[in-house]
Amino acid sequence: MPSQPDDCLFCSILREGSYVRKEKGFVAIKDINPQAAVHLLVIPERHVDSFREVGEFPAREAKRMLEFVAETAREAGLTDYRVQVNVGPSAGQTVFHLHWHILGSGPQHADAQAHAETAVVEL
Ligand code: AMP
Ligand code: ZN
Repeated sequence: MPSQPDDCLFCSILREGSYVRKEKGFVAIKDINPQAAVHLLVIPERHVDSFREVGEFPAREAKRMLEFVAETAREAGLTDYRVQVNVGPSAGQTVFHLHWHILGSGPQHADAQAHAETAVVEL
């Protein structure tokens, strides 16, 4: 795995290990300042500053990252939701480690709500 800068907030979070979902290479966390009823962040372990550098991901890892986003939304009980990536400060990026926002109006079934709030899934 390429270096993880000491001064990167999300690299620190990846080291600390407080996730709602995890597999080798990726985690999902709850956004500390949610902008929707469900607001999760998918963060790859590989540090790149932004989506501009997505080409640094090996193809398999990039594909898996997208699948992980979709699976995380599904496990949070969402069928309809937004996936957002802010690229650059004037587009709203504040943390310069690529991450994917998952924004949903709320779980579409109750079991999934409970799951999203409590589960730490080691894959
Ligand atoms: P962006 O503005 O696209 O770079 O997204 C960064 C997101 O990280 C924002 O939505 C913040 O609310 C969120 N955030 C910042 N610090 C933390 C933290 N310690 N834990 C969880 N989310 C955070
Ligand atoms: Zn980082």
